[in-house]
Amino acid sequence: MTVLDEDPATSSDQVPTRAAHPSHPPPGTTQRRRFHVKIDYELLSCGFHGHELVGTGAAELRPSDACVAREAKEEGWRWHRCLRCDSWVLLRRPQHPGSRFPPDPATIRLPVKGKRLRDRYVLRLIVIDRAFHFLVLSALATAIFIFARHRSLLHHDYVKVLTALQGSAGGPTGSHSFVVRDLNSLFRLDATKLYMVGVVLTVYAAVLAVEAVGLWRARRWAEYLTFVETGLLIPLEIYELTATVTPLKVAALVINLAVVAYLLVAHRLFGLRGGRPAVVAAYGEGA
Ligand SMILES: [Zn+2]
Repeated sequence: MTVLDEDPATSSDQVPTRAAHPSHPPPGTTQRRRFHVKIDYELLSCGFHGHELVGTGAAELRPSDACVAREAKEEGWRWHRCLRCDSWVLLRRPQHPGSRFPPDPATIRLPVKGKRLRDRYVLRLIVIDRAFHFLVLSALATAIFIFARHRSLLHHDYVKVLTALQGSAGGPTGSHSFVVRDLNSLFRLDATKLYMVGVVLTVYAAVLAVEAVGLWRARRWAEYLTFVETGLLIPLEIYELTATVTPLKVAALVINLAVVAYLLVAHRLFGLRGGRPAVVAAYGEGA
């Protein structure tokens, strides 16, 4: 059993992680410059999910466990090292241990951290964007299906409302009102065409859902799917901008261009910057 007599964080016996390297100080330990925003994704993840500690339920510690857990000077307490953010946390020794020793340090699987963790956060921002579009498209497809199914009934009510409004004074009910014109053209649409539009929107929403799940799980195929799907949209968005320019259209184009560029360059798609072998070399086989 090892008794800790020094500050564990300054000890030379450290887990071989990227953050332990002198050029990569542990998260949250460097002086911040005033207008320089730096996010420590390890601390963010530990804030969301808690520290990644090992051996908290072990009855005894071996000398080989010193890189992840050590007995403290105070009786009944132990220091545990977070595998993600490298913080040392002082915890009470377990009253009812679940095992004799912590898992063998050689078998411990390190959590995602460093650049790879940052990439996960960026991918999840893209997931939020896809999820938003999935919800909008699903709602639109549902509305179209409902409209197509009950069109004659809705048209009857629509004519009644229009007639009542025309009977009263004022209101944008003349034949020149763009709302009335748009609604009239909507009711003139063929039911088959409406169903087809609904089906296309549903398929597109399903593709976005598959993308979102794949990106959330950091799957390579999802990155390719997102790249192709987003890349196909860009010419259409540019064409749309030639008709009318709105802040929403410009924002959508900028976001999609950023997504495509990020996936292509940072995730080295299609063999760019060394492709998949370079990703594996940097982050390991599970990347
Ligand atoms: Zn932590």
